[in-house]
Amino acid sequence: MGGPEIDHLISLLAKLPGMGPRSARRAALKMLQQPETRMLPLATALAEAARAVRPCADCGNLDSQDPCTICADPHRDRSIICVVEGVGDLWALERAMVHRGLYHVLGGTLSALSGIGPDDLSVAALIGRVAEGGITEIILALGATVDGATTAHFLTDQLRPTGVTVTRVGQGVPIGGALDVLDDGTLAAALRGRRTA
Ligand SMILES: [Zn+2]
Repeated sequence: MGGPEIDHLISLLAKLPGMGPRSARRAALKMLQQPETRMLPLATALAEAARAVRPCADCGNLDSQDPCTICADPHRDRSIICVVEGVGDLWALERAMVHRGLYHVLGGTLSALSGIGPDDLSVAALIGRVAEGGITEIILALGATVDGATTAHFLTDQLRPTGVTVTRVGQGVPIGGALDVLDDGTLAAALRGRRTA
């Protein structure tokens, strides 16, 4: 259409979640028509975020500071850790303002089918955090998928020797996979209705 730069831009945009070639073309056109107000600020924001944002060494959240804003917040309840599959789940729980403790991002779930074992997830780091002491409850906020349930059972077994109370959200709550798709009210209900694992 208009040279290799445009084709390259469209092909990169089309790889983003929720985008396809069609929406990528629309987004590219919109930006190209307003380069000063839309395109350059976006390019700067992308470069800045890529440079500044890193996973938190404690919990795995993405932030421009390490420890992340949540881990560094003195007002958070440091005795409760909510375990989630991904950063998207953490962000969903934060948006819903239903958890005042800390988090731990696992990086996925155990999956025999995909060959994902405990060493592929931040399981050892979680056990390490509990072993440091001061933690009274681990909330497992994993999706109600087969892999989510398998992971919850595995973590409950692994955490048992530490004596920490392990609870699970979502039992009786229709979590159909990622926490991220749940509305805030459902998330709050899921967290309030947690049960001992
Ligand atoms: Zn953190």
